[in-house]
Amino acid sequence: MLSTQTHKNYIDGKWAEPKGAKTFESRNPAHQTEVVGVFPRSSAVDVDAAVQAAKKAFRGWRLTPAPVRAEFLYKVAELIKTHKEELAQLMTREMGKVLKEARGDVQEAIDLALYAAGEGRRLFGQTTPSELPKKFAMSLRMPVGIVGIVTPWNFPMAIPMWKIAPSLVCGNTIVFKPASDTPLCAAKLVELFIEAGLPAGVLNLIHGSGEEAGNALLRHPDVQLISFTGSVAVGQEVARAAADTKKRTALELGGKNCILVMDDADLDLAVDGAIWGAFGTSGQRCTASSRLIVHKKIVKEYTEKLLARAKELRLGDGLLQTTDVGPVINSSRLKKIDEYIQIGKKEATLLTGGKINAEGPLQEGCFYEPTLFGDVKPNAVIAQEEIFGPVTAIIPVENLEEALNVANGVRYGLSSAIYTRDVNRAFHAIEDLYTGIVYINSSTIGAEVHLPFGGTRDTGNGHREAGQTMLDTYTEWKTVYIDYSGKLQKAQGID
Ligand code: NAD
Repeated sequence: MLSTQTHKNYIDGKWAEPKGAKTFESRNPAHQTEVVGVFPRSSAVDVDAAVQAAKKAFRGWRLTPAPVRAEFLYKVAELIKTHKEELAQLMTREMGKVLKEARGDVQEAIDLALYAAGEGRRLFGQTTPSELPKKFAMSLRMPVGIVGIVTPWNFPMAIPMWKIAPSLVCGNTIVFKPASDTPLCAAKLVELFIEAGLPAGVLNLIHGSGEEAGNALLRHPDVQLISFTGSVAVGQEVARAAADTKKRTALELGGKNCILVMDDADLDLAVDGAIWGAFGTSGQRCTASSRLIVHKKIVKEYTEKLLARAKELRLGDGLLQTTDVGPVINSSRLKKIDEYIQIGKKEATLLTGGKINAEGPLQEGCFYEPTLFGDVKPNAVIAQEEIFGPVTAIIPVENLEEALNVANGVRYGLSSAIYTRDVNRAFHAIEDLYTGIVYINSSTIGAEVHLPFGGTRDTGNGHREAGQTMLDTYTEWKTVYIDYSGKLQKAQGID
């Protein structure tokens, strides 16, 4: 394993010093004086070296049989299993999520590696009859080329694996630029790929800022695809750069997800769903339940139950077993969340939370009180914009029709949920909720790797991660005609 202090990039099968001397630190958001590692602040020169390595390795890797490529993923999955606890603890130290959730993040990386490895013996194409005699027709999947992977910090192992594993099994080579808040998690993941014996140049790691290293990757002419997860603003940058340099993009962006609670719902279950969905990962999930759209008949009872539970949540270091809600990622996010809360206080009724907690041991970290607003209007700023913190908004509605209108009345379309015991209402909601993911009687979070993941409208550009749909992102089609007639045959009936 690497030392936890000074790290390097990984290019062409070697740990590489960056060309410049600039570095940045990754710090524990629960104890900001704790530096978990020092990393290179890479430049365009370093990115170019990584792209050239990926280019050099591409032909050998794409001509390696897919079942052989998959073997590396099986090995990586085993290695991650072996190191699961160590990786989870490191994740909690680096980005703050509570340990049991960090274990889930690592588990998702294992699941995806195994799922993608299975594709090594599928990667199905189609065969189809030709319109001409003695002619055979088929289509095959082939890799796209050099993939630039740019990831956020909130799922520092699962999200990189969502992108790395399918890229590899499909025969692409990679330059991976992780979030600068979670470089250590990325380095550890890459280390395990090295231990699994992945050939040099197939997976390259570049640390650094989005503005410098990330931007150089987006604009590199030899990169064919950028697979990006992050904010809408940066997603738009990716799309602009892709237009200039003629790249494909797969964009997974923000969310403003909702739980609908109908008057026939199991209210305790709907409270469980809201607590987990709104405050899990301190609300820093793209699928966080940041709006609770509640039938007026039960809004009072539901609010009381939810408030009691929210007040019990214990804020603290995610490594402690007593902690329910960990810190947020860094002090600038803490400030941003607080700005939204100040707006919310003018727009709605603050029921609990509403402030930075810097008391006792929490003063060393970035802690925001779990926050609940009541009586929120659907068009309020806190009901429209992604806050990405431990805060949720109760929006009362008259009926299902209004609930669906409110649910769809935001610019995002990632995840939604409805709690109801009425099968007709459930199906009405499945049909009308305009989101990429819909849950019935379960929270807005909890995706499984063998199903498509992604959303509509500003949440992305139509791609889906995971599931069978991942293959569409990381492959192109090749159509093959084999004429065994021994003569020139022309299609479209031409003599
Ligand atoms: P971010 O957009 O700030 O950063 C994401 C990545 O982009 C980081 O690696 C960053 O270094 C890089 N980056 C930043 N500026 C760049 C630039 N100009 N050029 C190239 N790269 C650049 O997002 P974040 O704060 O890390 O993550 C939070 C966001 O991610 C939220 O909006 C959340 O909803 C979204 N997210 C979406 C999904 C999804 O699947 N839909 C999953 C997780 C997170």
